Amino acid sequence: MDKLTLKDLALKNKCVLMRVDFNVPLTKDGKISDDSRIVAALPSIEYVLGHGASLVLMSHLGRPKAKPDPQFSLAPVAKRLSELLHIPVPLAPDSIGPQVKKMAAALKPGSVLMLENVRFHPGEEEPEQDPSFTDQLAELGDLYVNDAFGSAHRAHASTALIAKHFPGKAAAGFLMEKEISFLSPLLQGPKRPFYSIIGGAKVSTKAGVIHNLLKRVDSLFIGGGMTFTFMKAKGIGIGSSLFEEGEVKRAKEILDSAKSIHLPTDLVIADSFANEANRKVVSAEEDIPDGWQGMDIGPETIREWSSLLQKAATVFWNGPLGVFEMPQFAKGTFEIATLLARSKAETIVGGGDSVAAIQQMGLGDQFAHLSTGGGAALEFLEFGHLPGIDALSPAKR
Ligand code: AMP
Repeated sequence: MDKLTLKDLALKNKCVLMRVDFNVPLTKDGKISDDSRIVAALPSIEYVLGHGASLVLMSHLGRPKAKPDPQFSLAPVAKRLSELLHIPVPLAPDSIGPQVKKMAAALKPGSVLMLENVRFHPGEEEPEQDPSFTDQLAELGDLYVNDAFGSAHRAHASTALIAKHFPGKAAAGFLMEKEISFLSPLLQGPKRPFYSIIGGAKVSTKAGVIHNLLKRVDSLFIGGGMTFTFMKAKGIGIGSSLFEEGEVKRAKEILDSAKSIHLPTDLVIADSFANEANRKVVSAEEDIPDGWQGMDIGPETIREWSSLLQKAATVFWNGPLGVFEMPQFAKGTFEIATLLARSKAETIVGGGDSVAAIQQMGLGDQFAHLSTGGGAALEFLEFGHLPGIDALSPAKR
């Protein structure tokens, strides 16, 4: 990595201002349903606290409308972090202001303060509109560390703009470093054959990365809800399947790129979008009947893709291959996940839902890397860089 990293910083008696991605999923009654994002930041947090520094943590949670909203408070996160670290983690009443400044200044080495949700201020997501928000955040620490890979594709106050207040002292955290160490080789020269599987709901969110991956992969496998826009582009009827009219042209361009692209050859279709729906398997070369919709890749596709994927040396996978939240339509995603878990290929999984499917099956430790940031991983592979990383200080030579 050509950026300063946490190990390069002189930490003793300093206060580290660290951006983390604690945007965890919450249940309806406000409990954390998956703490893996908090756990993923522990190596950086423990390193800072163990090297004689104090720590101020910044994060966003959910999408509050640029004003305080108790349902998006980081209180449950501070509590969970305290349990994981076995030390108190007080939550500041805000992310800026005189009281917060006082709390940060009073921190002793080895102690930590969690700021309240930075998205309670409009200056977080629109830092140009209110630069004073960035300035006030920057006053809270001596050094800046960004470990929020999942937010690194956003040029927000706490993820990017703040770094300019810390010339020569803005570093990547360990999670950020780890993510880039797995994703960079995919752009630079992965072991071949290199295959990519792209699923999920929409073409619109993934066409950019598909274009860039097509230049690099030996084969691309397209599944999930985006399949149907591609089928439509081939002139096949898709019934009431998920469809993006505005993406047909781009789907055609991708199909015409003369690359090795695999679309499903058969599909599991249903007569409604429900686990209890009637289902049947049909060929993907024929029109899907009216009133029916594609929900998963079919058994023949699973067989064919499995035999091709066996040969892979490197795989990048983003997006489920069917509506895996419904058990009747989870088979394609789960079978391909099992195959990849068992295969010798180095498989990197980027994306919330595909990672969730793998974790649900208990296969997490059998993959080379499960990225903590779906959007960030896709943008890194599309553009080759991210604003949150660009903003950091250059590595010392
Ligand atoms: P994404 O966030 O783009 O990766 O999309 C993930 C979502 O795509 C999951 O919630 C899946 O249920 C959904 N999905 C996958 N296959 C289909 C399909 N055939 N029809 C509708 N939604 C799908």
